[in-house]
Amino acid sequence: MEIELITVGPFEVNCAVIWGEAKQALIIDPGYDAADIGAVLRANGLTVAATLLTHGHADHINALNELHTAHPAPVYLHAADEKWAFSEKNQIPPYYPVPVKPTDEINNPCPNAVGSKPWKISDLSFQALETPGHTPGGVCYWFKAAGICFTGDTLFKGSCGRTDLPGGDARTLTASLKKLAETLPPETRIVAGHGEETTMGHELATNFYLQRFQS
Ligand SMILES: [Zn+2]
Ligand SMILES: [Zn+2]
Repeated sequence: MEIELITVGPFEVNCAVIWGEAKQALIIDPGYDAADIGAVLRANGLTVAATLLTHGHADHINALNELHTAHPAPVYLHAADEKWAFSEKNQIPPYYPVPVKPTDEINNPCPNAVGSKPWKISDLSFQALETPGHTPGGVCYWFKAAGICFTGDTLFKGSCGRTDLPGGDARTLTASLKKLAETLPPETRIVAGHGEETTMGHELATNFYLQRFQS
């Protein structure tokens, strides 16, 4: 599995382009700079198999429409965030306008209560872990075989997502962090929505918000 990370937009979101031998890519969080994402696709001879969104905030989805227009493919966003992600509530002036909904068919990556149904898209397998708290529809995408998890704004290196934005809830986020601590092996690489890469083991040992869950 190949991964290329692109830092996009004014809030420096980590957008990931992931592909296997089939050269059909998953794009995680196309927050901005659709042209830069398109350049990675072209440089590696990739088509887009799907776009996976960790949550609905504008900084993570603002290039979705432009990218989808150029490379139509299924979009995955939790239903609890789809409700407001394309509404006026989700603009961040002066940085991000209201995100444009690219298609009426938005798929929920966590359609059942457990939220951990294994997905296979093209030759890429992953699980969508429901991790609300930063937003009601937060999702982490865990590529178990490759040992990497994309945690969006749920877990950061040395920190966790804020819960003071609309729909955020600190207790819910704590439960989601506990779920990650109990689910992800310590060697798992963590690529968060912003900032540097880390591992689950490093966070369990050093991250104030996770230390209480250390077994
Ligand atoms: Zn966010
Ligand atoms: Zn963010």
